[in-house]
Amino acid sequence: MLKIKRNDKCPCGSGKKYKKCCLADPDKNSEIIRARSIAHTYEELYQIIAKPMDVYRLKVELIRM
Ligand SMILES: [Zn+2]
Repeated sequence: MLKIKRNDKCPCGSGKKYKKCCLADPDKNSEIIRARSIAHTYEELYQIIAKPMDVYRLKVELIRM
């Protein structure tokens, strides 16, 4: 699992520190934790968070149709 330090830039792209952004928000933080369990690099983590799972699923369904 990828590690995010409390003082790292938040992966949601807000530009704030993680501890002052999503770490303090249980809803957003659960999304970050989910992304961390899938991602292998910080870039992957950023992409997973930037594209919420529901949007991704919708795109996959559209491609299949
Ligand atoms: Zn954030």
